[in-house]
Amino acid sequence: MNLVVGSGPSGVAATSALLDAGKPVLMLDIGRELEAASRRAEEPGEDPARKLVFGSSYPYLTDREAGLAQKGTRCLASGGKGGLSAVWGASVLPFPEDELSDWPFAAKDLHEHYKKAAVLLGISGAVDGLAPRFPFYSPPLPPLKHSRQAQSVLAHWARHEAELKRRGFAFGRARHAVDSAACEYDGTCLSGCERGAIWSAADAVEKLKKRPGFEYHGGVRVLAIEERPGGVRLHAAREGASRTVYDGKKIFLACGPLATARLVCGSFGAPAGGLPLLSQPYFVLPLLLDRDVPGAPEEKLHTLAQLYLELDDPKTSPRLVHLQLYGHNEVIAERLAGAAAWAGPLADAVKRRFAPRLMAIQGYLHSDKGVPVRITAEGRGEDCRLTVAAGDASASKAAVRRVAAKLAGSSGELGFRPLSFMLKIGLPGEGNHAGGTFPMRSTPGPWQTDVQGRLQGHERVHLVDSSVLPSLPSSTFTYAVMANASRIASQAAD
Ligand SMILES: Cc1cc2nc3c(=O)[nH]c(=O)nc-3n(C[C@H](O)[C@H](O)[C@H](O)COP(=O)(O)OP(=O)(O)OC[C@H]3O[C@@H](n4cnc5c(N)ncnc54)[C@H](O)[C@@H]3O)c2cc1C
Ligand code: SF4
Repeated sequence: MNLVVGSGPSGVAATSALLDAGKPVLMLDIGRELEAASRRAEEPGEDPARKLVFGSSYPYLTDREAGLAQKGTRCLASGGKGGLSAVWGASVLPFPEDELSDWPFAAKDLHEHYKKAAVLLGISGAVDGLAPRFPFYSPPLPPLKHSRQAQSVLAHWARHEAELKRRGFAFGRARHAVDSAACEYDGTCLSGCERGAIWSAADAVEKLKKRPGFEYHGGVRVLAIEERPGGVRLHAAREGASRTVYDGKKIFLACGPLATARLVCGSFGAPAGGLPLLSQPYFVLPLLLDRDVPGAPEEKLHTLAQLYLELDDPKTSPRLVHLQLYGHNEVIAERLAGAAAWAGPLADAVKRRFAPRLMAIQGYLHSDKGVPVRITAEGRGEDCRLTVAAGDASASKAAVRRVAAKLAGSSGELGFRPLSFMLKIGLPGEGNHAGGTFPMRSTPGPWQTDVQGRLQGHERVHLVDSSVLPSLPSSTFTYAVMANASRIASQAAD
């Protein structure tokens, strides 16, 4: 039996690949679920900046539960069935191949696994100017309807395409792991999709249950890993039951980078100098379109990303910058609340007067420009505690500001003006894309992994989540994490 720990996107992708190879899987998962009866408001002491789903924070572990002390970071760990996909924005793009030169295997090794992940996710989108660098590996579902604002911006970009290209911009419609045929455009995407149109790994687990060889045990918190001759043993706590052990041939850790680091360090010890944590620099930047779009604020629409804008301009950033354009939505409004506070009445006046012209960018840079973060661990087994501490953020912030300046300098061609006084730069982890704690290397050193996500000396323990990514290119990353998890699991199944 193969043991997969975690039911988020990476656990689901690894499981699916193992089942494809005819290998049985037992998935173990803390697996909290939203019970209709227990839909609850946030509990005191929880981070108010966390995005809730149906008013509940059930997908998240509190820092105390996750054994975390955060210093200058805002990272998330999940204890939910489906992991953080219960709250995600469903934006999907593959990593561009030319950004993977520092990875220890050929980019083409991911192709068939992008295809498998695309089949799991069901990706809606259009084959447009982004396709050459960001292929669809499986024919897309029809795209979601984009808003009037997005249509107006796209038409402007099309008229200025040559100049935008000269300046390093490529653009296209956003792509989503959303069943566009099921979408009702009721605009509640970020607080919970009643229609179930947004892909969630929890739904994928239900589909996996129909496949022979798959079993799911929720309510199980894995506490430690032990390697034994010919197999692995997991020590676990079951909700409302006594402690237990699970024996298997191989284990696939898909807990998200912090919970995976806690299990690894709690089981195998931790390096004195700590572990790295890579994150993509992240920012929110409101922008004002250069024209009114009548009816925009009242329009029935989805509130996920509308458009993608990619910036490839070495003078601004040595690596690709990924920008997602949104109409108004509550998460962006909340993220901006802090930034707007000091601008006070000015920000409110801008919002009131210019609502039909307001959009916002969520932007991501390559992890090369991320704030350095170290994870140190103390204690063994379930007593293991992690301290996650951010270093100097000045170079990362400067890199973000160069991107904002580039946007401002291209406002004629882009058809909007960034409201730079409201730029909000996120703390490490706030962009929700982090990993690289145990990076894959062709010749791994201590606390690094081989191309099958295995730490030196631990032949039967495969890390399959973002922990193993050698670097984080800027484009939205869960799709690539899933493809890599699928690649590792199919190789490990041989
Ligand atoms: C608000 C928000 C928006 C996002 N939007 C996007 C987006 O638009 N596009 C994108 O690409 N990404 C997005 N992300 C990121 C995306 O959700 C994550 O990359 C993805 O969920 C990671 O998947 P994972 O399976 O590796 O881990 P997770 O989703 O974190 O799942 C971890 C799983 O492990 C289980 N687990 C943890 N510890 C244990 C343990 N000790 N024992 C047993 N089980 C355990 C949990 O129960 C959970 O099932 C977003 C994230 C957030 C929070
Ligand atoms: S608008 Fe959003 S919440 Fe509503 S059905 Fe569509 S995807 Fe779901």
